[in-house]
Amino acid sequence: MNFSIDIDGKRWQVDTTHAHDLSIPLLFDQSQPTFFAAPKATSAPYRVGDFSGSVATGASCNCFTHSLTPHCNGTHTECVGHITRDPVSISEIAPTAPQIALLISVKPRQAKHTRDALGPASQLDDLAIDAELLERAISSINHELVQHATALIVRTLPNPTSKKALNYDSIAPAYFTAQAAQALTVRNIQHWLVDLPSVDRAHDQGLLAAHRTYWGMPPNSHDATLATRRTATITELCYIDDAIADGVYCLNLQVPAFAGDAAPSRPLIYPLSANK
Ligand SMILES: [Zn+2]
Repeated sequence: MNFSIDIDGKRWQVDTTHAHDLSIPLLFDQSQPTFFAAPKATSAPYRVGDFSGSVATGASCNCFTHSLTPHCNGTHTECVGHITRDPVSISEIAPTAPQIALLISVKPRQAKHTRDALGPASQLDDLAIDAELLERAISSINHELVQHATALIVRTLPNPTSKKALNYDSIAPAYFTAQAAQALTVRNIQHWLVDLPSVDRAHDQGLLAAHRTYWGMPPNSHDATLATRRTATITELCYIDDAIADGVYCLNLQVPAFAGDAAPSRPLIYPLSANK
């Protein structure tokens, strides 16, 4: 089944038969990406009375209890509730409508080569993605819907499949500068998807400058009422296969209704073409 969407009076076809899944399947108890010293996501049969929760051990059906830390165990989508004192749930923020998404590939640069401001914890040999790198990659996409995009997907280079099970505590992952996040707000990007464990430096003295800038939160604030971009989302730890070309897509951001700041997620993107 395909569907069409109208943008500024022009009709576009969305090819749902060729979905690309940008999530990393969460393999409980097996190899997973890990971050921030979090334990692996685990799964165990639920047991009550004589019921074992596992058909393999004689139960009538499978019923498992899962344990996970969404921010650290794989692909997840988070909302401003990630940094606020008052709870804000991803279930009330996650988009229900399809989005026009740009997919770009970016090779991070050493922090000493950026003109953007760096946080106090940054090291000169950190890998950073600054506003210039983002703008250069976006401007290389020659498509009339670029200005209509409300989502940006960033694939970082190099892009080995080992990212799907990488221990991010064993390396210094790349991160975005606050000015890069600011550039996204200027472009009205509401949904930011990355293949990194965090848009900020893993250890940045708690500033989360890119997160805060993106959500329109003042420095050090934990007050959700101050967020000028309360409905924006960030999706981290995606994996974007090399076979998916940079360009413009239709995004279906699938997020379960967790009453928490973040939840595991499955971003799907579909090819988009002008109606003939
Ligand atoms: Zn996160």
